[in-house]
Amino acid sequence: MEIKVMKDILGQNDKTAANIHALLAARKIFALNLMGSPGAGKTSLLERTMAAMKDELRMAVIEGDLFTSRDADRIAKSGVPVIQINTAGGCHLDAPMVEKALRELDLDCLDFIIIENVGNLVCPAEFAIGEDEKATVLSVTEGNDKPMKYPLIFKESAVTVINKIDLVPYTDFDVAQATEDIKTIHPAAKVLPLSCSTGEGIEAWLDWLREKVKR
Ligand code: MG
Ligand code: ZN
Repeated sequence: MEIKVMKDILGQNDKTAANIHALLAARKIFALNLMGSPGAGKTSLLERTMAAMKDELRMAVIEGDLFTSRDADRIAKSGVPVIQINTAGGCHLDAPMVEKALRELDLDCLDFIIIENVGNLVCPAEFAIGEDEKATVLSVTEGNDKPMKYPLIFKESAVTVINKIDLVPYTDFDVAQATEDIKTIHPAAKVLPLSCSTGEGIEAWLDWLREKVKR
Protein backbone atom coordinates (compact mmCIF):
# COMPACT_ATOMS: atom_id res chain seq x y z
CA MET A 1 0.00 0.00 0.00
CA GLU A 2 2.68 2.49 0.97
CA ILE A 3 4.55 1.78 -2.24
CA LYS A 4 1.45 2.61 -4.31
CA VAL A 5 1.00 5.95 -2.53
CA MET A 6 4.64 6.81 -3.19
CA LYS A 7 4.18 5.97 -6.89
CA ASP A 8 1.15 8.30 -7.13
CA ILE A 9 3.10 11.14 -5.53
CA LEU A 10 6.00 10.60 -7.90
CA GLY A 11 3.62 10.42 -10.89
CA GLN A 12 2.11 13.81 -10.06
CA ASN A 13 5.53 15.24 -9.34
CA ASP A 14 6.92 14.00 -12.66
CA LYS A 15 4.06 15.66 -14.58
CA THR A 16 4.79 19.01 -12.95
CA ALA A 17 8.53 18.51 -13.51
CA ALA A 18 7.88 17.86 -17.22
CA ASN A 19 5.84 21.09 -17.42
CA ILE A 20 8.66 23.06 -15.80
CA HIS A 21 11.19 21.50 -18.13
CA ALA A 22 9.12 22.45 -21.19
CA LEU A 23 8.59 25.99 -19.91
CA LEU A 24 12.32 26.51 -19.41
CA ALA A 25 13.36 24.73 -22.62
CA ALA A 26 11.07 27.02 -24.64
CA ARG A 27 13.08 29.95 -23.28
CA LYS A 28 16.43 28.16 -23.68
CA ILE A 29 17.05 28.37 -19.93
CA PHE A 30 19.36 25.69 -18.50
CA ALA A 31 18.29 24.45 -15.06
CA LEU A 32 20.60 22.71 -12.60
CA ASN A 33 19.43 20.82 -9.52
CA LEU A 34 22.30 21.23 -7.02
CA MET A 35 22.31 18.62 -4.26
CA GLY A 36 24.54 17.45 -1.41
CA SER A 37 24.77 17.04 2.36
CA PRO A 38 24.32 19.98 4.75
CA GLY A 39 27.67 21.76 4.93
CA ALA A 40 29.10 20.24 1.74
CA GLY A 41 29.49 23.71 0.26
CA LYS A 42 26.55 24.09 -2.16
CA THR A 43 26.03 27.76 -1.32
CA SER A 44 29.79 28.41 -1.38
CA LEU A 45 29.94 26.89 -4.86
CA LEU A 46 27.08 29.18 -5.91
CA GLU A 47 28.92 32.20 -4.51
CA ARG A 48 32.03 31.26 -6.51
CA THR A 49 29.90 30.65 -9.62
CA MET A 50 28.12 33.99 -9.36
CA ALA A 51 31.31 35.92 -8.71
CA ALA A 52 32.87 34.44 -11.85
CA MET A 53 29.88 34.41 -14.20
CA LYS A 54 27.37 37.10 -13.33
CA ASP A 55 28.70 39.54 -15.93
CA GLU A 56 28.96 36.81 -18.56
CA LEU A 57 25.63 34.97 -18.27
CA ARG A 58 22.27 35.88 -16.78
CA MET A 59 21.53 33.64 -13.84
CA ALA A 60 19.01 33.22 -11.05
CA VAL A 61 19.04 31.03 -7.96
CA ILE A 62 16.24 29.19 -6.20
CA GLU A 63 17.19 28.32 -2.64
CA GLY A 64 15.60 25.37 -0.86
CA ASP A 65 15.92 25.45 2.90
CA LEU A 66 14.10 23.82 5.80
CA PHE A 67 13.33 27.00 7.74
CA THR A 68 15.77 29.88 7.21
CA SER A 69 16.71 32.35 4.49
CA ARG A 70 20.40 32.34 5.44
CA ASP A 71 21.62 30.89 2.13
CA ALA A 72 19.29 33.15 0.10
CA ASP A 73 20.65 36.15 2.02
CA ARG A 74 24.19 35.12 1.04
CA ILE A 75 23.17 34.82 -2.62
CA ALA A 76 21.28 38.13 -2.61
CA LYS A 77 24.50 39.97 -1.70
CA SER A 78 25.84 39.18 -5.17
CA GLY A 79 22.93 40.96 -6.87
CA VAL A 80 21.74 37.76 -8.61
CA PRO A 81 17.94 37.25 -8.40
CA VAL A 82 17.16 34.69 -5.69
CA ILE A 83 13.87 33.09 -4.68
CA GLN A 84 13.60 31.36 -1.32
CA ILE A 85 11.60 28.16 -0.83
CA ASN A 86 11.10 27.16 2.81
CA THR A 87 10.03 23.55 2.98
CA ALA A 88 8.90 23.94 6.62
CA GLY A 89 10.82 20.84 7.64
CA GLY A 90 10.42 18.96 4.33
CA CYS A 91 13.68 17.20 3.51
CA HIS A 92 13.69 17.77 -0.29
CA LEU A 93 12.30 20.06 -2.96
CA ASP A 94 9.52 18.83 -5.22
CA ALA A 95 8.34 20.09 -8.60
CA PRO A 96 5.26 22.02 -7.36
CA MET A 97 7.48 24.05 -4.98
CA VAL A 98 9.80 24.94 -7.84
CA GLU A 99 6.90 25.74 -10.19
CA LYS A 100 5.60 28.25 -7.65
CA ALA A 101 9.04 29.82 -7.17
CA LEU A 102 9.52 30.20 -10.93
CA ARG A 103 6.44 32.45 -11.12
CA GLU A 104 8.42 35.04 -9.20
CA LEU A 105 11.28 35.16 -11.71
CA ASP A 106 11.41 37.07 -15.00
CA LEU A 107 12.13 34.13 -17.31
CA ASP A 108 12.56 36.30 -20.39
CA CYS A 109 15.93 37.56 -19.25
CA LEU A 110 17.72 34.46 -17.95
CA ASP A 111 20.29 32.03 -19.35
CA PHE A 112 20.31 29.59 -16.45
CA ILE A 113 18.83 28.81 -13.07
CA ILE A 114 20.53 26.92 -10.28
CA ILE A 115 18.23 25.33 -7.74
CA GLU A 116 19.96 24.57 -4.44
CA ASN A 117 18.13 21.61 -2.96
CA VAL A 118 17.71 20.87 0.75
CA GLY A 119 20.90 19.43 2.26
CA ASN A 120 20.37 15.67 2.14
CA LEU A 121 21.98 12.78 0.24
CA VAL A 122 18.82 10.66 0.02
CA CYS A 123 15.43 11.87 -1.25
CA PRO A 124 16.38 14.98 -3.26
CA ALA A 125 17.69 12.49 -5.83
CA GLU A 126 14.24 10.84 -6.08
CA PHE A 127 12.27 13.95 -7.06
CA ALA A 128 12.63 15.53 -10.49
CA ILE A 129 12.12 19.30 -10.28
CA GLY A 130 12.25 20.18 -13.97
CA GLU A 131 16.03 20.31 -14.18
CA ASP A 132 18.20 19.61 -17.23
CA GLU A 133 20.95 18.16 -15.07
CA LYS A 134 21.61 17.24 -11.47
CA ALA A 135 24.90 17.96 -9.71
CA THR A 136 26.07 16.81 -6.29
CA VAL A 137 28.58 18.45 -3.99
CA LEU A 138 30.48 15.99 -1.80
CA SER A 139 33.05 17.41 0.61
CA VAL A 140 36.19 15.62 1.76
CA THR A 141 35.15 16.02 5.42
CA GLU A 142 32.13 13.73 4.81
CA GLY A 143 34.30 10.67 4.26
CA ASN A 144 35.04 8.25 1.45
CA ASP A 145 32.13 5.95 2.13
CA LYS A 146 29.39 8.30 0.92
CA PRO A 147 29.20 7.37 -2.79
CA MET A 148 28.79 3.65 -2.04
CA LYS A 149 26.35 4.33 0.84
CA TYR A 150 24.16 6.75 -1.13
CA PRO A 151 24.59 5.56 -4.73
CA LEU A 152 21.36 6.99 -6.19
CA ILE A 153 22.36 10.65 -5.88
CA PHE A 154 25.69 9.95 -7.59
CA LYS A 155 24.02 7.82 -10.27
CA GLU A 156 21.60 10.68 -11.01
CA SER A 157 24.22 13.42 -11.09
CA ALA A 158 25.95 14.33 -14.34
CA VAL A 159 28.71 15.89 -12.27
CA THR A 160 29.97 15.40 -8.73
CA VAL A 161 32.03 18.20 -7.24
CA ILE A 162 34.47 17.01 -4.57
CA ASN A 163 34.75 20.15 -2.45
CA LYS A 164 37.21 21.24 0.26
CA ILE A 165 40.23 19.52 -1.34
CA ASP A 166 42.39 22.03 0.59
CA LEU A 167 41.42 20.01 3.69
CA VAL A 168 42.54 16.62 2.33
CA PRO A 169 45.78 16.64 4.41
CA TYR A 170 43.66 16.86 7.59
CA THR A 171 41.35 13.97 6.69
CA ASP A 172 41.70 10.38 5.51
CA PHE A 173 39.72 11.20 2.36
CA ASP A 174 41.10 9.58 -0.79
CA VAL A 175 40.10 11.62 -3.86
CA ALA A 176 41.21 8.90 -6.30
CA GLN A 177 39.18 6.24 -4.47
CA ALA A 178 36.08 8.47 -4.29
CA THR A 179 36.40 9.22 -8.00
CA GLU A 180 36.67 5.52 -8.76
CA ASP A 181 33.60 4.74 -6.63
CA ILE A 182 31.54 7.47 -8.32
CA LYS A 183 32.62 6.18 -11.75
CA THR A 184 31.67 2.65 -10.72
CA ILE A 185 28.17 3.90 -9.88
CA HIS A 186 27.93 6.19 -12.92
CA PRO A 187 30.64 5.63 -15.54
CA ALA A 188 29.77 8.78 -17.54
CA ALA A 189 29.81 11.08 -14.50
CA LYS A 190 32.20 13.99 -14.41
CA VAL A 191 34.11 14.26 -11.13
CA LEU A 192 35.57 17.67 -10.32
CA PRO A 193 37.79 18.04 -7.24
CA LEU A 194 37.95 21.68 -6.15
CA SER A 195 38.07 24.07 -3.22
CA CYS A 196 35.53 26.84 -2.82
CA SER A 197 37.83 28.40 -0.18
CA THR A 198 41.00 28.64 -2.24
CA GLY A 199 39.44 28.62 -5.73
CA GLU A 200 41.61 25.70 -6.85
CA GLY A 201 39.81 23.66 -9.53
CA ILE A 202 36.89 26.10 -9.87
CA GLU A 203 37.67 26.78 -13.53
CA ALA A 204 36.81 23.20 -14.55
CA TRP A 205 33.41 23.56 -12.87
CA LEU A 206 32.78 26.89 -14.62
CA ASP A 207 33.75 25.35 -17.97
CA TRP A 208 31.32 22.46 -17.45
CA LEU A 209 28.54 24.91 -16.65
CA ARG A 210 29.36 27.24 -19.58
CA GLU A 211 29.18 24.33 -21.98
CA LYS A 212 25.77 23.29 -20.65
CA VAL A 213 24.30 26.79 -20.60
CA LYS A 214 25.42 27.70 -24.11
CA ARG A 215 24.47 24.47 -25.81
MG1 MG B 1 23.46 25.99 1.41
ZN1 ZN C 1 12.88 14.20 1.50
